[in-house]
Amino acid sequence: MVFPYKKQKMMGDRFMHNLQKFYVDGQWVEPQGAEILDVLNPANDQVVSQIRLGNRDDVETAVAAAVNAFPAFSQTTKEERIALLERIIEGYSARLEDLARATTEEMGAPIGFSRQMQVMAGLGHIKVALSILKKTDFTEVMGTTTVVKEPVGVCAMITPWNWPLNQITCKVAPAIAAGCTMVLKPSEVAPRTAHIFAEILHEAGVPKGVFNLVDGDGPTVGAALSEHPQIDMVSFTGSTEAGKKVSIAAAGNLKKVSLELGGKSANIILDDADFAKVIKRSVRGVMTNTGQSCNAQTRLLVPEDRLAETIEIAKASAESVRTGDPMAEDTAMGPVVSKLQWQRVQALIQKGIDEGAELIAGGVGSPEGLETGCFVKPTVFAGVTPEMSIAREEIFGPVVSIMTYKDEDDAVAIANNHIYGLSGGVYSADLERANAVAARMRTGMVHINGAPADAKAPFGGYRQSGTGREWGRYGMEEFMETKSMMGSIPKA
Ligand code: NAD
Repeated sequence: MVFPYKKQKMMGDRFMHNLQKFYVDGQWVEPQGAEILDVLNPANDQVVSQIRLGNRDDVETAVAAAVNAFPAFSQTTKEERIALLERIIEGYSARLEDLARATTEEMGAPIGFSRQMQVMAGLGHIKVALSILKKTDFTEVMGTTTVVKEPVGVCAMITPWNWPLNQITCKVAPAIAAGCTMVLKPSEVAPRTAHIFAEILHEAGVPKGVFNLVDGDGPTVGAALSEHPQIDMVSFTGSTEAGKKVSIAAAGNLKKVSLELGGKSANIILDDADFAKVIKRSVRGVMTNTGQSCNAQTRLLVPEDRLAETIEIAKASAESVRTGDPMAEDTAMGPVVSKLQWQRVQALIQKGIDEGAELIAGGVGSPEGLETGCFVKPTVFAGVTPEMSIAREEIFGPVVSIMTYKDEDDAVAIANNHIYGLSGGVYSADLERANAVAARMRTGMVHINGAPADAKAPFGGYRQSGTGREWGRYGMEEFMETKSMMGSIPKA
């Protein structure tokens, strides 16, 4: 097997990765779509790789491979799939540095963050899938009836660029564990980690046709997969706007749809919290991954009489974020992913100013000395009211909106009064008080006193943040159908 991506081509004085093949039916194939897309490094606007944009014929070929592979793969034993996942973990563990560098080059996360978080989160999902498969008996006996779980079928997976590996492995690993076959369309903005992951799956011996990769844009390849009559499930992570289109397209054959969409999470700081510590931590939390996490807690809710103190701490925290070259080991915040994203973030910061919010750190324009690339100033607004655009829209950039509340009821009402319901946070010195507030938050996840995400626990949101859950056992069961077999147990 020759891996095309180990070969690089010189572009001026730089190497560029040639990613112009798709992985279909166990081999790297020439795409039928001819259009080439440059993938840019957002830190310096240089081309780092090129992909081909697939067309409907590419989707047909990949879906056919997944359909053909399903009968045999769905009948593999649990032990065979355990062994497969173990080999995938081994292969992935051998490519950690390649994966980290690809992540940083394509989407701008600082290299330390790519190594420790982006890439390790991806590995975590494969390990969790393996552990669940090993220890879970998905069969339930109810009198003379047996209830079994079976693979849902042929899956389409459509992923974004902000946590590229995490979002791919949290779909692919449980789908393999469940016995599904699949076609992945990674983000066209950050496709290289997906290509490396395809190499890992190939080397691990994933049977041909079980995993297929087609690059392309949303309206062509994403839409063709979403509406395809031979796809049984589409697992989508991305914007709410695209998620709605996927749902509509998927309705043709009523395929199962799992959607992980946008967020505008609220972080409620109760009056007994240690403000010096938690405000700093909350601001830094938003700046992580340059604000490009769907669960970023971008609405910071504090008691009215603690606003002055909050502003002081938040301003100092934002202004001390080390922004710069993501390949430098000491950088805390890199650029946003693209010029398009930069423009969107700038427009929303300007809207915040125009709508009367008080700018206390950062603002429009590039940080000094970082005019090349897609760098944004770590920005904090105070005086934000619920109707302002910066309280309503997902900015997907390093922007915190400080809002005030009168009492706990008011805090919960502000937090819940939103189209999104992905995540939330509560900080309090009193765990019982924090738990009581957390229980009233209408979100799929709540982080109490800064507890981190848990790869074993379900990830997903209420309302327009999506449907279904990923991660852990709940995430794996999304890739399964439930079958009741009446009379399968003899009467006692
Ligand atoms: P996006 O919606 O633009 O793209 C996501 C993926 O969908 C890409 O692969 C894209 O090509 C594809 N796509 C776009 N239009 C499509 C269509 N009409 N049909 C099918 N596929 C289509 O989102 P993005 O800019 O890549 O990612 C950022 C968004 O993702 C944010 O809104 C963020 O909140 C969300 N996100 C959600 C989660 C979560 O788990 N809830 C996680 C990460 C990101």
